Amino acid sequence: MTTNIDPSEIKKFEALAHRWWDPDSEFRPLHQINPLRVNYIESLMSLHDKEVLDVGCGGGILAEGLATKGARVTGIDMAEKGLSVAKLHLHESQLNINYKKSSAEDFAIHHEGKFDVVTCMEMLEHVPDPSSVVRACAELVKPGGRVVFSTISKTPKAFLFAIVGAEHILRLLPKGTHEYKKFIKPSTLAKMARESGLEVEKTKGMGYNPITRVYSLNNQLDVNYILVTRKST
Ligand code: SAH
Repeated sequence: MTTNIDPSEIKKFEALAHRWWDPDSEFRPLHQINPLRVNYIESLMSLHDKEVLDVGCGGGILAEGLATKGARVTGIDMAEKGLSVAKLHLHESQLNINYKKSSAEDFAIHHEGKFDVVTCMEMLEHVPDPSSVVRACAELVKPGGRVVFSTISKTPKAFLFAIVGAEHILRLLPKGTHEYKKFIKPSTLAKMARESGLEVEKTKGMGYNPITRVYSLNNQLDVNYILVTRKST
């Protein structure tokens, strides 16, 4: 069993689990970026009939988005309550997703090279050793398959937007959701990816305009960003 789990992080997500599907809750930012990131992923690769693993799936916002595009999705997370909510929500969405309680590292032991696409979004900044999760994602994907990561960069601007702005001024997220020391620069994540046999293919920034309250994709990687990687064949 992996020890790369921060129990206080899991507890944080357990406490909020009942609100995963409330679009006006703490998870509002994830609901709002979801169509943008799902459409971005679909613009890079067909998801139809693809075996997709969503690592750190929470209540299933991203997993359902990917399933809607025709992917056969498995979602894993360590927060049990989030998984229960994700399973319940399938009754409403009428989608078919396989949810399991597991870490990426433990799942990789029996599912090596099983997935066409692995997604791991807004999760790496909540684990003690992100490079271990990156390695596990690389093991889980087939040669030639993609691993799509997203996280928050370690820049003064990210501190200002993701912590001061989002948690203290706009109160989009509960205080203590993010810790600056766990943020990861794109260059650091790219290095972790390369060391795991993943080649960086594309990057995209995700921005928030606090005036219009609209999220959009852009090319600035200094706050929230997506890194698309491909495993060598
Ligand atoms: N990926 C989803 C949810 C992000 S929230 C989305 O982008 O919409 C982060 C999730 O990571 C939470 O559900 C939390 O329980 C999960 N998580 C944190 N540490 C984890 C670990 N070590 N293994 C698996 N999941 C973890």
